Amino acid sequence: MSTSCPCGTGKPMDQCCGLYLSGKAYPNNAELLMRSRYSAYATGNLPYLIKSWHPDTCPDLNSDDLRTLWLRLEVLQSKKGLKKSIVEFKAWFAAEESERVLHEISLFKLYKKRWVYVGPLEQWPSSHM
Ligand SMILES: [Zn+2]
Repeated sequence: MSTSCPCGTGKPMDQCCGLYLSGKAYPNNAELLMRSRYSAYATGNLPYLIKSWHPDTCPDLNSDDLRTLWLRLEVLQSKKGLKKSIVEFKAWFAAEESERVLHEISLFKLYKKRWVYVGPLEQWPSSHM
């Protein structure tokens, strides 16, 4: 497979988030986890989204949550801590005749020695381009 990874690194997917989505490896920092979760949304990998979500905050996801057509990701900044990390990103998706962007500052925590997504600290769903 030489498709480039949806997360925007420019690497082939099987050398980027594909490693995590297939279960061959697990991301060792929050930014990699965030990127792989974006790729999971982009490719419809529901089990991975659940696995990488903190069990206390994970919603009852189903395949309807994966209908969005994701276009691209931009990681703006990440702050690494020992047990908590913060990643700020923008993710573009297709909506009707235009593109929209989800801008979020996400909280990640180390849970059972793995980074997991806890939820947004701040979120700006934008309705204009
Ligand atoms: Zn990737």
